[in-house]
Amino acid sequence: MDRHDLPAPGSSERTRVRRIPEKAVEDRAALEAVLDAGLVAHVGIVDDEGQPYVVPVAYARDGDRLLFHGSTGSRLFRRLADGARTCVTVTLLDGLVLARSAFESSMNYRAVMVLGTCAVLDGAERDDALRRISDHLLPGRWDDIRPPSRKEIAATLVLALPLDEASVKVSAGGPDDDPQDVDRPVWAGRVPIREVFGEPQPDEAGAAHPVPTYLEQWTR
Ligand SMILES: Cc1cc2nc3c(=O)[nH]c(=O)nc-3n(C[C@H](O)[C@H](O)[C@H](O)COP(=O)(O)OP(=O)(O)OC[C@H]3O[C@@H](n4cnc5c(N)ncnc54)[C@H](O)[C@@H]3O)c2cc1C
Repeated sequence: MDRHDLPAPGSSERTRVRRIPEKAVEDRAALEAVLDAGLVAHVGIVDDEGQPYVVPVAYARDGDRLLFHGSTGSRLFRRLADGARTCVTVTLLDGLVLARSAFESSMNYRAVMVLGTCAVLDGAERDDALRRISDHLLPGRWDDIRPPSRKEIAATLVLALPLDEASVKVSAGGPDDDPQDVDRPVWAGRVPIREVFGEPQPDEAGAAHPVPTYLEQWTR
C-alpha cells in the first residue's frame, strides 16, 4: 500500500487533536519525518490491575510500521506480543518558549502519537527488523558487529506496530503573550534546543582500532 492510501494523521475520532487543533499536522510525510528523526519511543501498556506503564524503547520506522525489540522476559514486550492495545509517542523537543507569564510559557516540539496493536515478527522479517533498528540508531554499525546468536534471537521479541492510526502535533514559534503583559520589564523569546552527539569515546580495547568512517561521518 502506498503511503498516500493510508489514513491521514489525526483522521480517526481517537486521534483528532482537540486541544489547540491548529497544531495538528495531517500530512503523512510529517509523521514519517518525526519518526525518522527520533531515537526513543515511549510505549504504553495497561496491566491486569489497570495500572498504566510507559516504557522508553529504541525503535525504527519501516514504511508504514514501527519496529521494536526487547527481551522475551520483559513485561512490556510479553504483553504487546499477546495483543495488548498500546499508545506510542515519539517527541522531538525543539525549544523553550519563555513568555512573560507562567501560563503562556511552553515548549516547541514535534510529537507523534500512534494507537494500535503489535504483530510479532519471525524469521527473515525479524532479522531484517533487528538490522533496521540498529541502522536507525547508527547506519553501518550492523555490518561491523557480531550478529545475534540463535540463543540471543530466542531471547528477543521483535514487534511491528502499524502506523494506520496516528496523530502529529507541532508547536513552533515564539511566546503568545497577553497584550497587557508585553510591556513587562522581562526578557522573553525562545531558546532553541538541539540534539548533539559528542566525541566518540572508545573503551580500553576499542582504543586500538580507528573510529569507523560511518561513525565519524554520522550526523543527524
Ligand atoms: C514536549 C511537550 C511538552 C508539553 N507540555 C505540556 C504541558 O505542560 N501541559 C499541557 O497541557 N500540554 C503539554 N503538551 C501538549 C500535550 O502533549 C497535549 O497535546 C495536551 O495536553 C492536550 O492533551 P489532550 O489529551 O487534552 O489532547 P486532545 O487534543 O484531546 O487529544 C486528542 C488526540 O490528539 C492527539 N494528540 C494530543 N496531543 C498530542 C501530542 N502531543 N502529540 C501527538 N498527538 C497528540 C492524540 O491522538 C490524542 O488522542 C506538551 C507536548 C509536548 C510534546
